[in-house]
Amino acid sequence: MNPPIPTASVDAQDQETEQNGFEAIGVPAGLAKSLFKRGITAPFPIQIATLPPALEGRDVCGRAPTGSGKTLAFGIPLMMRVGRARPNHPRALVLAPTRELAAQITEELRQLGDSEQTVEAFYGGVGFGNQLRALRNGVDVAVACPGRLADLINQGHVHLNEVDLVVLDEADRMADMGFLHEVKRLLDACALPRQTLLFSATLDGDVDVIIKRYMKNPVRHEEAGADSEGDTAEHMFWAVERADRVEMTAQIVARTGPTVVFCRTKRGADRVAKQLEQRGVRAVAIHGDRSQSQRERALEQFRQGRAQAIVATDVAARGIHVDGVACVIHFDPSEDPKDYVHRSGRTGRAGAAGSVISFVGRDQRRDMNQQQRSLKRKFEIVDANPAGLPEAPPFVAPPARPERSGSGGGRPGSRNGGSRNGGARNGGGRPGGQRKGGRPGGPRKGARSSGSGSSGNSGSGNSGSGNSGSGSQRASQGRSSAAR
Ligand code: ADP
Ligand code: MG
Repeated sequence: MNPPIPTASVDAQDQETEQNGFEAIGVPAGLAKSLFKRGITAPFPIQIATLPPALEGRDVCGRAPTGSGKTLAFGIPLMMRVGRARPNHPRALVLAPTRELAAQITEELRQLGDSEQTVEAFYGGVGFGNQLRALRNGVDVAVACPGRLADLINQGHVHLNEVDLVVLDEADRMADMGFLHEVKRLLDACALPRQTLLFSATLDGDVDVIIKRYMKNPVRHEEAGADSEGDTAEHMFWAVERADRVEMTAQIVARTGPTVVFCRTKRGADRVAKQLEQRGVRAVAIHGDRSQSQRERALEQFRQGRAQAIVATDVAARGIHVDGVACVIHFDPSEDPKDYVHRSGRTGRAGAAGSVISFVGRDQRRDMNQQQRSLKRKFEIVDANPAGLPEAPPFVAPPARPERSGSGGGRPGSRNGGSRNGGARNGGGRPGGQRKGGRPGGPRKGARSSGSGSSGNSGSGNSGSGNSGSGSQRASQGRSSAAR
């Protein structure tokens, strides 16, 4: 089912490792090697700019587009520098706006750390049991959403006074979501002196306030294109009347493959998912009213290719970090132009191509013009043309699999060395979902086709294939495992 695994000769690998760009910028050889095995061989611009000062202990703030590699930019120095924690006294804190993002960062950090280091996620919507147990055993790195962390502090389960390394990820989004006050209180509770790393799609407004007040002489890295995250994607504005939107969505999904559909309201998202199902499109909904486990299940189904479309509200937009998304549909327009950018950033990640389609009803044209003005781009509103979109192979739902049992509270101690390099963790990987195979395609399709869930064969073998640049290798890494 899976294509044969390309294997690089050992010699070639050693040679590559010697030239490993991560080592050249100060990342320890062992870690550079394990990144190499995951197909991560050359640092991205933000990593080149921020890793050396961050590894030295300096404050860093970075502005860069979605998919530019911010997680490694802070994750590597974090795992290199963090100390060992006493019970209930974490040593490093990562704040993230959404549960999904917190879960994803946690997983990425665990892959970077050694087996002694403990990384745990703290967010609401799940019971306290596992989180409290982990805290009692000592959590070196707490990855948290501000709300749950504040609860845990108020209950006396977490003390931040030994945290001397803080990361604020997607700081602008935390501000947008109203967490600013909480974030400041949490920062006030951390140790001084400390190292603070901040990443955001914008560094102005509220984020600038945080930088000025909580960071000391930070190294700034600002990447062009950060305000138009979907840059590598193609943006289209299609004239589609309200009544035709579901049918048009179904056609687009059938044509392009894995799609994220954005709706304005939670009820709208549920309704659209249902209507898509009625048209034979496997769709799941994800929004704030769904429980954490429902959201995780939905994301996992999508990652594994068991769902073709995920229908989401804006709040969920930041949480969806899945590579291999072929298309983003703005089913309803985003109210805030910033959300247009965040939504669109779900595709075209890490340089892969993607399509971003906005539906524009007759009565919405004026709004759309306004939105485009604030995006500093102008697009014509054109007739819908699904047949003109890049085509994916027909959807074949993989056979249902039992839910993964997972490791529950999963103290990182339960990881073993081998699994961290990607291969073993995903068990069977994707059983021949539509995004694999059947696609001899050019670079664009190659980048797409790796989708997610394919890391079963993404170990060192991939590194020799050199097919579509790093995109496809990247896409097969890290995103496949379940959000915990
Ligand atoms: P961001 O947080 O900037 O949106 P991520 O950190 O989630 O982006 O990275 C996007 C994808 O790129 C991830 O799958 C990640 O593993 C991959 N990636 C990061 N850095 C590199 C690199 N230097 N080479 C190849 N892939 C990378
Ligand atoms: Mg990120």
